[in-house]
Amino acid sequence: MKLLIVEDEVKTSDYLRQGLSEAGFVVDVARSGLDGHHLAMTESYDLIVLDVMLPDIDGWQILQALREAGRKTPVLFLTARDNVDDRVRGLELGADDYLVKPFAFAELLARVRTLLRRGSAAVPETTLAVADLELDLMRRRVTRAGRRIPLTGKEFALLELLIRHRDEVLPRSLIASQVWDMNFDSDTNVIDVAIRRLRAKIDDEFEPKLIHTVRGMGYMLDTSAGA
Ligand code: CA
Repeated sequence: MKLLIVEDEVKTSDYLRQGLSEAGFVVDVARSGLDGHHLAMTESYDLIVLDVMLPDIDGWQILQALREAGRKTPVLFLTARDNVDDRVRGLELGADDYLVKPFAFAELLARVRTLLRRGSAAVPETTLAVADLELDLMRRRVTRAGRRIPLTGKEFALLELLIRHRDEVLPRSLIASQVWDMNFDSDTNVIDVAIRRLRAKIDDEFEPKLIHTVRGMGYMLDTSAGA
């Protein structure tokens, strides 16, 4: 499997190249929009990881050119945090999925594998649902039993992580690295506080309870409760 990474930030592109190579992929890297455009249009890739912000021509122009030329290579684009317009635009232009920077490598790898498995014709995932809880990933909206529940950006990210890993125990260290982009083993209070607030919003007035504490280990969104 051959992948193209279009990313001008050296640190990020090196990190992606190394990680994806170690995961067994053949990786080309373009550090400018023009190089990325050239490679995407002339070489054959199984998937393209495309940064949106590039110094010369941006990721949108590359994506647009690719789709106009009838090339259906799956594209995973990288966007800035909380830029909803970007997400909508990317998917409208024919991207297959996106990741919000900063992201954990494990998350990128999981998305890459999912895209490669399902091929290029699939519809991008825009909602996640568990029981009567629904997340609209595009609009960053959450409803439970049809009731709109306002969440902060961090709470949304936390809930998205729990749902994507439903029925798995998530250690606090993993939650910290994925939602707060930090590695810490000592002060996990911030996570406990965030979980408490999230529970108050999505579980307190509803049944079944979805978020569970697994003592000494972490947290889990349990879909078996009440099923
Ligand atoms: Ca960039």
